[in-house]
Amino acid sequence: MTAEILSTHTPALFAAAAGRAAALLRAGEVVALPTETVYGLAGNAFDAAVVAKIYSAKGRPAHNPVIVHVDSRAMAAACASLWPAMADRLADAFWPGPLTLVVPRAAHIPDIVTAGGPTVAVRWPLHPLMPAVIRACGFPLAAPSANLSDQLSPTNAAHVAKQLGDRIPLIVDGGDCNVGIESTVVDVTGPEPRVLRPGMISAEAIAAACGGMRDAERGMRKEDGALRSPGMLAKHYSPRAKLVVLEWRDEADLLARLGAMGRGLADVHVLAHTQIPLGGKFSHVSVIPYDAEAFARAFYGELHRCDDEGAALIVVEALPDHPDWAGITDRLRRAAA
Ligand code: AMP
Ligand code: MG
Repeated sequence: MTAEILSTHTPALFAAAAGRAAALLRAGEVVALPTETVYGLAGNAFDAAVVAKIYSAKGRPAHNPVIVHVDSRAMAAACASLWPAMADRLADAFWPGPLTLVVPRAAHIPDIVTAGGPTVAVRWPLHPLMPAVIRACGFPLAAPSANLSDQLSPTNAAHVAKQLGDRIPLIVDGGDCNVGIESTVVDVTGPEPRVLRPGMISAEAIAAACGGMRDAERGMRKEDGALRSPGMLAKHYSPRAKLVVLEWRDEADLLARLGAMGRGLADVHVLAHTQIPLGGKFSHVSVIPYDAEAFARAFYGELHRCDDEGAALIVVEALPDHPDWAGITDRLRRAAA
């Protein structure tokens, strides 16, 4: 199988791509669709056999649950046995957008979607393509990132084609992802919102949106067990090359640090934002913006490029310790693990 790639940059192309995706999805196929976070590999969330196809196309371990994508709050609530008041607050503030809410699952959500757990993760994406497809299908879409398990998430259609092009029938090209890293995942089943996976919507913004709620309004139970974050592996979102995060004063300092690590400079790619090594000593130097949103948008694309160009070592200049950067710092840590 070689994936057909459909573009969406005119209204007619958009409608044709959404229609083709919906037809394949209604026929029980899985297709890659753009969202504002990363590209997703989508299938009917109500059909366990279809979700099993997603897992096998990705080589995804069964203990890692998938996010269910919806096109309305009503569709999200229909996936839940209970819709907490906190979920309404967060949906008011951030939906549609890069926020995933973990709520108690409805009985009709297949086990394979939740990895057998008592909760389901739901998100209403902002990128218009997936909601248009969901509307045409009439069912929500289970969609993990459209990459092979443990490899880099895709932020454009070419990234998807590289990893899954021979395993799926269709990739819809919706352009470069505007957010660029995976959604913030928040558990709203307890008395306080808990961030299970940081992202570009910060923990501070989540807490602020839930501020001022009366205790009785907030949660569903006072006591809650251990933090539920299935699938949150230390090593994830990784390029093939080894990745290290370093701080350096200037180029001489960076060269000394790499020397101390016993590294030559062959196939070393540097991603810098402030202290840019300009001496021509490295295989590649990228300047990435010192701005959290712009950095997130560029980051996976840079890692894909490093892999494509055969980098042996990726050196990333250390990031600020600031809430706006928490999601990126998390992905950088997993890429370096
Ligand atoms: P991906 O779709 O590849 O970005 O991965 C989805 C991630 O969402 C998983 O790795 C989990 O961290 C999280 N997730 C999905 N479903 C649940 C759930 N029911 N409870 C907690 N976290 C979840
Ligand atoms: Mg993923």
